[in-house]
Amino acid sequence: MEFFHSKLNDLSLQQKAQGLLPEGLLEEIKAAGKLGTEIFKKIEREQIQKIDLAVYKNSSYYAEEIVCDFSKLGLYSRWLPKMVGGGGGHPLAFYGLNLEMGANCLGISNLIGAHYVALGLVSATSSFSILSRITKDIIAAEKNGTHSTVSLAITEPGAGSDMEEAELLKKAKVCTLAKKTEGGYLVSGQKIFISNSLFAKWYIVSAFEDLALPADSLVIFAVKANAEGISLGRSEAKLGQSASPANIVFFENVFIPDIDICFSRSQFKKDSEFKLNSEFLLNDLLSLSRAGVGCLATGVQKRILEIMIEVAEKNNLNFEWEQIQIAQVLQNFIVSKTISWEGHIECYSRGPYKDLQSPLGYSFFKYMPEVFLKFGLGTLLKTIGARDSLRKKRRESISLAEEKMIFGWGALTKSVCTDKAMESVLLALELVGSDGGSSFWELEKILRDVKLLQIYEGTNELNRLMIYKSFVGAASSERLLFKESC
Ligand SMILES: Cc1cc2nc3c(=O)[nH]c(=O)nc-3n(C[C@H](O)[C@H](O)[C@H](O)COP(=O)(O)OP(=O)(O)OC[C@H]3O[C@@H](n4cnc5c(N)ncnc54)[C@H](O)[C@@H]3O)c2cc1C
Repeated sequence: MEFFHSKLNDLSLQQKAQGLLPEGLLEEIKAAGKLGTEIFKKIEREQIQKIDLAVYKNSSYYAEEIVCDFSKLGLYSRWLPKMVGGGGGHPLAFYGLNLEMGANCLGISNLIGAHYVALGLVSATSSFSILSRITKDIIAAEKNGTHSTVSLAITEPGAGSDMEEAELLKKAKVCTLAKKTEGGYLVSGQKIFISNSLFAKWYIVSAFEDLALPADSLVIFAVKANAEGISLGRSEAKLGQSASPANIVFFENVFIPDIDICFSRSQFKKDSEFKLNSEFLLNDLLSLSRAGVGCLATGVQKRILEIMIEVAEKNNLNFEWEQIQIAQVLQNFIVSKTISWEGHIECYSRGPYKDLQSPLGYSFFKYMPEVFLKFGLGTLLKTIGARDSLRKKRRESISLAEEKMIFGWGALTKSVCTDKAMESVLLALELVGSDGGSSFWELEKILRDVKLLQIYEGTNELNRLMIYKSFVGAASSERLLFKESC
């Protein structure tokens, strides 16, 4: 086992060879990985099984003590910019955390991951005044031992995959209406499968000013979960990832003041600018979050391998077919690790955070005094002028070709790694067998958890279409996308 572990770490040479990264960032990624391991020294497997059982008996259960512990550790603000009061952790460091958290429990990973995906959308809208107010709540909760997590509410009963791609959004059957009113919007509709909405304190929500033209009328807003008119529906009796509940959220004439609107048509002078930024929003958020899902799928394969080796050593499994089974999973793990790392580098070096990754940008945000970042730059960033110029910069600084690269790589990372994870867990189950005791039951849970990785952030079928669209279809206007027949 010792030998196996040292070999496993040897395989990460590609990280050391990665000349693109500024000095210090690799250390940050490793430190985040270490943190992920430390977290699970305190959460034993038995506790994870107890959570699964509690959720099986009551789908509205959630492990409040774990969420509060994460909050006390500062995990909900650590990767937010210093300019809004966060810890200033580099977003790419999340790679290390996801890898280790994914190796331990995908449901518990989602207690942190879903929070940052929601805040990633606020950040992608450049609405730093809103991000700053939400961060203030998160930090206050971290200090008083409670939590103030954030959920992202995009999916609707009639529109799941369709919400995840600009082209498909045009045809989506949406139901959440944002009607302009004095000083803000009135929102009515519903969202489904909303991770952690059961206990989140803020929701980041998409709605539409015209339900017949969703792609042309997107509104993104932040709202406190206890706002008047918001109610929770059932907690889904999910197949896996039990530690992270997913609920329906209803909106009935919820008033959203203008200051909580992260993104809307009225914030732009021209239609064309609004449309371009709308498209970038989806692409930016999804490419990064899909790369993250790929990383979780890589982490879980590390655990699958460990289980296989443990069982093989314990039971002296040495037939050729058993060796091949283990080798195949090792192969899957290494392919996933290579792809997920490449996917992160592609998405982070070309995408919305690319400035943070240049050596100059990295050093600036890391070493500049916090007081300057928070009260100088931070104050400036919260203005409407800064918001608008960041959006303009986003429209102008990344070419369409680069945009396709990051979108394609996000989709590729997610679909390849999660499919490999599914194949790996099935191979492991074959090897371990149903009389494999606790190893069998751990793999059984991993199987249920991994299935959901293939679905969220767009199903893998949809992600394969995204790969075609980004890398192949894009080459010719003759190639029709999303058509069953001509
Ligand atoms: C555990 C979990 C947590 C989630 N958390 C959140 C959350 O926090 N916030 C949130 O907003 N959403 C969340 N979701 C929703 C998730 O993003 C959607 O489930 C996902 O986008 C798929 O949508 P859908 O379930 O409506 O499936 P559908 O889009 O209805 O897909 C059904 C089937 O049709 C296929 N399909 C769909 N469109 C096409 C097409 N154009 N071409 C070919 N095949 C197609 C799909 O591949 C799939 O097999 C979560 C889902 C899960 C399972």
